[in-house]
Amino acid sequence: MSKPIQITTKPGSSKEYKTGSWRTSRPVFKHDTCNDCRICVIVCPDSCVSGGDFKYDADLDFCKGCGICAHECPVDDIDMVLEVK
Ligand code: SF4
Ligand code: SF4
Repeated sequence: MSKPIQITTKPGSSKEYKTGSWRTSRPVFKHDTCNDCRICVIVCPDSCVSGGDFKYDADLDFCKGCGICAHECPVDDIDMVLEVK
């Protein structure tokens, strides 16, 4: 029996699938000690951190709450807090 082949029908379709509902905790960007290093933008596996000028935020429609941004921020300007549903 052959397996069905899964095909991506068009580029960029992942934007249509909001994955934020999987999250059990969320990042809170404190905008307090940010040094504008952009590490949080680079390390986010979902590419959902954006901003500039010492002010960054995550797009919570796509953030899965992995906590990598908070772990890697060199100045502890991101807290992970439990998601409240
Ligand atoms: S990793 Fe931390 S210090 Fe660097 S831009 Fe992000 S919030 Fe700011
Ligand atoms: S918690 Fe994970 S998915 Fe969410 S913004 Fe930080 S690095 Fe990205």
